[in-house]
Amino acid sequence: CLLGPALLFVKTSQGREEGRRFYACSACRDRKDCKFFQWEDEKVSEARLAAREEYNRNHQPFFTHSQNVERYKNFVLLPLPKRRFCQECQQLLLPAEWENHSDHQFLCNVSTAQLKSPSQLLYPLENKKTNAQYLFADRSCQFLLDLIIDLGFRRVLSVGTPRLHEIIQSKASQEEDFRVRSLLLDIDFRYSQFYAEDEFCHYNMFNHYFFGGEAARETCRKFLCQDNGERVIMVTDPPFGGLVEALASSFKKLMAMWKETEKEGHNNQEMPTFWIFPYFFESRILEFFPTFSMMDYQVDYDNHALYKHGKTGRRQSPVRIFTNLTPSVIVLPVEEGYRFCAVCQRYVSSGNQHCEMCNSCTSKDGRRWKHCVLCKKCVKPSWFHCSNCNRCALQNHTCEKTDAGCFVCGQAGHKRSVCPSLSRA
Ligand code: SAH
Ligand code: ZN
Ligand code: ZN
Ligand code: ZN
Ligand code: ZN
Repeated sequence: CLLGPALLFVKTSQGREEGRRFYACSACRDRKDCKFFQWEDEKVSEARLAAREEYNRNHQPFFTHSQNVERYKNFVLLPLPKRRFCQECQQLLLPAEWENHSDHQFLCNVSTAQLKSPSQLLYPLENKKTNAQYLFADRSCQFLLDLIIDLGFRRVLSVGTPRLHEIIQSKASQEEDFRVRSLLLDIDFRYSQFYAEDEFCHYNMFNHYFFGGEAARETCRKFLCQDNGERVIMVTDPPFGGLVEALASSFKKLMAMWKETEKEGHNNQEMPTFWIFPYFFESRILEFFPTFSMMDYQVDYDNHALYKHGKTGRRQSPVRIFTNLTPSVIVLPVEEGYRFCAVCQRYVSSGNQHCEMCNSCTSKDGRRWKHCVLCKKCVKPSWFHCSNCNRCALQNHTCEKTDAGCFVCGQAGHKRSVCPSLSRA
């Protein structure tokens, strides 16, 4: 489809495959957003293939990336009063194009500073689609960058992290002794208006598809090459509705790309990675990346009113950093209440108490968890042991064994689409 190779899906019911397998869009969950559909064993006629190709050709972005780079060069030569950004088309305008956008809302006097922070100029993409955009709060973005620098990394592969990319790019252009570089891989093609081909690749992280073909792939490969010992880290913050399996498969391919670039090999190491994702996906992520562990740090977002840090926000952010780096080197800010647990050898949130029975700091959500001797593990503070179900649960739960729970949080009574853990502002 338009977003590259489709993925093969299968419907399951109670863990069992059901019905015919089919191909559908890797990134759009809603058939309204991408109509592509094909049974696995379906014969596709020449005519339909041709129609598909024709459709894809007709739905390419109006300008190519290299055209956008040319346009940008011309744009920055314009005096401030002539620098306009069409808010309806989400596009920088050259004076000859003004007329075509005359009945659109536009922004005037687009400054150099605004051009350097496109994530603030562009409006965040729709909430409901899988490519919903949630931008890091400054606090979290700065924390990530400081951490990356302190750990000695000089190159950041920013996969779906435009705001991290932009603070790196902006510092690199302003501070002479700032050595960090970033390459943004993102599906949001609007960013091609602001970044050159060696700074941004149009990329789909659900099927590892480079829209720019072999040239873009080569750009990425070059970037991953650790010349002069410039260590690389991948940082990714995928949409939370995304399929973990598809994401993991793409990240493994990026990791393999990194591995290939080194002639002597990396002593069997994995490319250092930060995967930013909600804590309730921990077991899913560990399934695919057993070397990863979850950090207690709560990642905050600007346009995500529910996910504000600590007591000032209404709720604590459920979003964490998963990494294959040694937990003890991920130093979390003490001024925000994080402390080092000498037994666990990692930083934990202030409410996270070390449990003697589990021999671990067990809280996942930042609140203090309590140990249940019957379950032989720590559970959420709001849970009680239910002798009917033979496990801990909320006091007012319904006891009968309901169908498989929510795919996101594992709790019964709702589907993933309406999971309260994912409720958004
Ligand atoms: N917190 C990050 C943004 C995360 S929002 C920051 O502030 O930098 C998720 C990001 O992933 C968005 O930039 C979105 O455009 C991108 N994205 C969504 N679906 C994608 C896909 N299929 N492939 C690549 N990037 C995708
Ligand atoms: Zn501990
Ligand atoms: Zn315990
Ligand atoms: Zn229990
Ligand atoms: Zn019960």
